[in-house]
Amino acid sequence: MNAQPKNINLEEIVKADIAHHFHPFTDHKSFHAAGGPRVITHGDGVWIWDGKGNKILDGMSGLWCVNVGYGRKELAEAAYKQMLDLPYYNTFFKTTTVPATELAAKISSLLPERFQHVFFTNSGSEGNDTIVRFVRHYWKVMGKPYRQHFIGRRRGYHGSTMVASNLGGMVGMHEQGGTPLPGFHHVQQPYWFDFGGDKSPEDFGMDAAADLEKKILELGPENVAAFIGEPIQGAAGVLIPPSTYWPEVQRICKKYEILIVSDEVICGFGRTGNWFGFETFGFEPDIINMAKGLSSGYLPIGAVAFSDKLTKPFFEKGGDFNHGMTYDGHPVAAAVALKNIELIETENMVGRVRELAPYFAAGLQSLADHPIVGEVRSVGLIGAIELSSNKKTRARFHDSGRVGTICRDHCFQTNLIMRACWDTMVLAPPFCITKKEIDELFRLARIALDKTYADVSGEMA
Ligand SMILES: *Cc1c(COP(=O)(O)O)cnc(C)c1O
Repeated sequence: MNAQPKNINLEEIVKADIAHHFHPFTDHKSFHAAGGPRVITHGDGVWIWDGKGNKILDGMSGLWCVNVGYGRKELAEAAYKQMLDLPYYNTFFKTTTVPATELAAKISSLLPERFQHVFFTNSGSEGNDTIVRFVRHYWKVMGKPYRQHFIGRRRGYHGSTMVASNLGGMVGMHEQGGTPLPGFHHVQQPYWFDFGGDKSPEDFGMDAAADLEKKILELGPENVAAFIGEPIQGAAGVLIPPSTYWPEVQRICKKYEILIVSDEVICGFGRTGNWFGFETFGFEPDIINMAKGLSSGYLPIGAVAFSDKLTKPFFEKGGDFNHGMTYDGHPVAAAVALKNIELIETENMVGRVRELAPYFAAGLQSLADHPIVGEVRSVGLIGAIELSSNKKTRARFHDSGRVGTICRDHCFQTNLIMRACWDTMVLAPPFCITKKEIDELFRLARIALDKTYADVSGEMA
């Protein structure tokens, strides 16, 4: 193990954090009431430690990103070496650095032939902002200036910046900060458990796709620029679409010449058992957004791949694309991403995810008989557990999200990180997880479910 326990003054850190650190996605009043943050000090493999010395199984790879696991010395060394050589130079104005160019070529080599060009960003949100600016400009260049509208899904998550939060379908985000802006629309998500009723998942998948076509016709196909979707909706609760969904979305978009953006920020780089989620679900995007797994979260970096059809007019007609961030293609982040991809390749981690998938699925399935569990589902190493007050009717507890939060808190107490998306518990462990650690994960999950059931057993319908 490379990481060492830090000699920290926990009390001082917690005090300073409460005094000075304004946290993202946090209820600040209850944060203070709870006595401030849990401080994470070090990590190794699938394990992280907090300032009190608790050893915690990270079933979420941080925020779906630490795919190769914690404590990979090779990534630290790649960063150290690049910092000594060249800590920074930009990629604007006909300039590049060696790692940025090598990474662009590497990403392109992992994608289908039509993706020869990659634009760098520093996050998934920036990638989606980049996509909206690029696509709107593209359609203008192509003489179709009315194609400016974007369609996403309800509860889709595409990031937190102004544009990304508009692409996403999170109502709680739209309620803050003056959104949704005009030009962003949301359609049915392919979520059979909540919306499928008596239909088969396959029929319901066709219905969800039909809602996209309905929206396209309502807006006028000549006004629609692109459809954006995560292959699996992560933050919505790991919504794995029925097999009929993506092929039908593909057919509809093709029919109306609408671009498909695959937001691969979670699914990309092996999570579903293939390099990218669009391979797992069988569709052909025009644009691919990547972040998180690109560097396994060791440094912030994102990338957007544009198909040749989209970059061609820029090469032929000329004119600046007036967009870029100071740190696009940051050489240290790029060097770490390159090394991360090298680790995934040399250790055959995508194959490993595929091999572990049935074992992970069986672990989830072992919880399916729990009285509080309405459904379990997974693909590769990403999965979900639906909390329900009635297995047969798939009924929900009152106050959406309440029981999920109870369960998440029991997970914390049990030293397991399992996230709650409303009343769906989600898992996305690092690819280095062993079968023994998968056993331990589901042993801890069952304890947390038992405790949750003890709290709400009076509410079962
Ligand atoms: C996390 C996420 C984003 C946003 O990425 P950030 O790096 O947090 O800006 C975008 N899309 C998806 C699918 C994500 O899961």
